[in-house]
Amino acid sequence: MVERTDVVVVGAGLAGLACVTELQRRGVEARLLEASDAVGGRVRTDVVDGHLCDVGFQLLNPAYPALRELVDLDALDLQPFAAGVRVRRRGGVATLGDPRREPRLLPATLRSGLLRPRELAGLARWAVPVLGGEKRIMGLTDESLAASLDAAGVRGPLRRQVLEPFLAGVLADDSGATSSRYARLLVRWFLLGAPAVPAVGMRALPAQLAARLHRPAETGVRVQGIDRGVDGVTVRTPSEAVEARAVVVATDVQDAVGLGAVPAAPPVGGLVTWWFSTPSGMPQDRLLVVDGDRGPVVNTAVVSAAAPGYAPPGRDLVQVTALADAGLTDAEASAQAARLWDADVTAWDLLVRHDVVRALPRAVAPLRLHRSAAVGGGVFVCGDHRETPSIQGALTSGTRSADEVAAALGA
Ligand SMILES: Cc1cc2nc3c(=O)[nH]c(=O)nc-3n(C[C@H](O)[C@H](O)[C@H](O)COP(=O)(O)OP(=O)(O)OC[C@H]3O[C@@H](n4cnc5c(N)ncnc54)[C@H](O)[C@@H]3O)c2cc1C
Repeated sequence: MVERTDVVVVGAGLAGLACVTELQRRGVEARLLEASDAVGGRVRTDVVDGHLCDVGFQLLNPAYPALRELVDLDALDLQPFAAGVRVRRRGGVATLGDPRREPRLLPATLRSGLLRPRELAGLARWAVPVLGGEKRIMGLTDESLAASLDAAGVRGPLRRQVLEPFLAGVLADDSGATSSRYARLLVRWFLLGAPAVPAVGMRALPAQLAARLHRPAETGVRVQGIDRGVDGVTVRTPSEAVEARAVVVATDVQDAVGLGAVPAAPPVGGLVTWWFSTPSGMPQDRLLVVDGDRGPVVNTAVVSAAAPGYAPPGRDLVQVTALADAGLTDAEASAQAARLWDADVTAWDLLVRHDVVRALPRAVAPLRLHRSAAVGGGVFVCGDHRETPSIQGALTSGTRSADEVAAALGA
């Protein structure tokens, strides 16, 4: 039997959820079809022995502009990390903090040995456009992050031991090829907001968006094909064909290629996160730890220090994240954790390991924002790969695609 509807949205990740939210606001009827058993896409949380293990360590930055219109941040009860990092390097540990938000870290920051006047001046030059906002950043000629840091004269330990290892974890890429525009946007958001996790896990973000939909997402429905016709578009699932006036493909980029919605996928970076339950007593300063010696682990953190609800009483929850390319075994990840925390890890329990091989599409120069979602024949595309590889990118892209669909349908 052929079903009819105004719009079908394929994929209930953040982009698909944002798209349907906006269509609903404009009075456009939409069905949201999701292949997996739950909404959220790459934002999910596993509950393991009473611990909340996000499927790949990730943080929500309340400074993301897209959150303001779509999300009730108070209801997420955000648990912030400290605005600083601890750097483990041969010869000890250094701590760096944002003096505006973490004045308590100022003495340690000044003692860190990471602040050299010439490099600091270079970093200030690099960061000037960051203060000017998105328009100013997007007005710059784009180049690779590495080239932009070279040009500004950022060449010392702050770059090699802090900035690059930190950004490798955020970008799932340690090649330096990321767009300098995107790197500056990221730094701007980090300066404006305190990255956090919701008290009950990252899953709370998509759950909030899904709960507001008048017509719930249909999970367990994999779209097998999309056929463009003269009167509209037909979406094929294993059990039905749905005719729609417009279809929005809100999958990740590889699946969008598979459905014929975009011609080719950019390279995608992978991340692996190990979640360890440890006896209590881990540092509670809410700092992300990076490896100043550029080891295979890009970051590690006591997540329960920031968000106590992530671990049951008497335990701490530690995440250890590496690039998928590093090919780390569980034993090697434990050994790296022991080194980075200077801890005996024999009593640590590995709860779960998440291999997210398709974590983040690479944002290489030139970064383009606000591309049209329309790809012809009543088909539209949204998702982080159309904007920036982030929660911000996915949400903005979803909302914008809904604007375009509504305009195309005259709604
Ligand atoms: C490990 C990790 C760490 C991250 N860290 C951060 C971070 O700290 N900060 C940040 O801002 N961002 C981070 N991100 C990025 C952010 O999570 C993503 O950019 C965002 O969730 C992408 O959302 P999306 O809707 O574009 O795509 P997805 O979340 O991939 O959603 C696509 C959906 O489409 C569904 N689908 C695919 N094919 C079909 C089909 N044929 N039929 C029906 N449904 C289909 C999929 O099942 C999926 O649910 C991280 C991501 C990962 C994986």
